[in-house]
Amino acid sequence: MPSRNPAASDTGDPFLLTPGPLTTSRRVKEVMVHDWGSRDTKFIGINREIMEKLPEIVNGDANFVTVPMQGSGTFAVEAMLTTFIPRTGKVLLLINGAYGQRAKKICDIAGRAVVTHETAEDTPPDLGAVERLLKEDAAITHVFAVHCETTSGILNPIVEIGALAQKYGKHLLLDSMSAFGALALDASAVGADAIAASSNKCIEGVPGLGFVIARRAALERTEGNATTLTLDLHDQWRNFEKTGQYRFTPPIHVIVSFHQALTEFFAEGGQPGRGKRYAENCRVLIEGMRALGFEPLLPDRLQAPIIVTFRMPADPRFKFQTFYDALKERGYVIYPGKLTVADSFRIGCIGRLYPEQMRGALAAIRDILDEMGVESLKAAA
Ligand SMILES: *Cc1c(COP(=O)(O)O)cnc(C)c1O
Repeated sequence: MPSRNPAASDTGDPFLLTPGPLTTSRRVKEVMVHDWGSRDTKFIGINREIMEKLPEIVNGDANFVTVPMQGSGTFAVEAMLTTFIPRTGKVLLLINGAYGQRAKKICDIAGRAVVTHETAEDTPPDLGAVERLLKEDAAITHVFAVHCETTSGILNPIVEIGALAQKYGKHLLLDSMSAFGALALDASAVGADAIAASSNKCIEGVPGLGFVIARRAALERTEGNATTLTLDLHDQWRNFEKTGQYRFTPPIHVIVSFHQALTEFFAEGGQPGRGKRYAENCRVLIEGMRALGFEPLLPDRLQAPIIVTFRMPADPRFKFQTFYDALKERGYVIYPGKLTVADSFRIGCIGRLYPEQMRGALAAIRDILDEMGVESLKAAA
């Protein structure tokens, strides 16, 4: 029997080398061992602090507000798209993975007009083509982009996209879910009206709360846009302004835990500190995997330090399910691929993980390859 990694997490659970939910600190879990009523003044204060602190992470000044939304990250993305894009609006969706596709599905269901610019999962948008679309289609009111497309781990050029949106007077909406807190993002400079993220990615909280950082002036103009009651960010925000409370039952434990995660985030030095640890995790992971013979899908210049896609080796002795199960047995959970461009699997470098865990995973991978008798890690052509 393979022995568990001696550095196993402090709960004895495997490390999650996944894009979220991810490994959290012990304290983030411990603070949930209480009951609170939703009108509890202590809880309301904790929630207010979260709402005040979040915009700081994207350099959002007093012009920005946080509107939390119960649910996973997708609830926040759907709330953002359907609250900010008026029923008569039209959005240009930049798609290079599953999360861009999901935004299209949201808009289609909500009856918002869309135009798409789609590139392969390993390819950033063609900015020249984006500019032509913006120039030629005056009906476009909004541009939607995914910051780090977690499908492949690609970093999209949001600063350039933001500059184009500003040049043509379009409103920018960002899904920064897997990048928020890890990668530098300046909400004012990029010109975003709204940025969606969630509790269980780079802030290292538990899942259950999405949020949108919104430019106050833009949010004020969204009254009546929403096509659902629950996902109406304008109404949610108004209610906070009036009462400091959620309209419907909040995931209180998640929020209290998220508050602890944020405290730990700022103690680590905020975005620069956290981004540095993830970048180091990512570097150790890619170097180690390359040394073993694995091929990352993306060139280094497109790779965000969030999650790395590796090509599936062609050697028939490499069986992914066996590899996955054996790694889990040794204390590391990885993530299957979700790509159409290449047969692949993914390994995340976010969460309460350090280079030590990356090295532990690499050592486990080396052992498992030996056990499977894999000789070459070359991917199929
Ligand atoms: C995780 C993620 C989401 C939200 O996914 P949920 O499963 O709803 O939390 C949205 N966009 C991106 C880019 C993500 O990485």
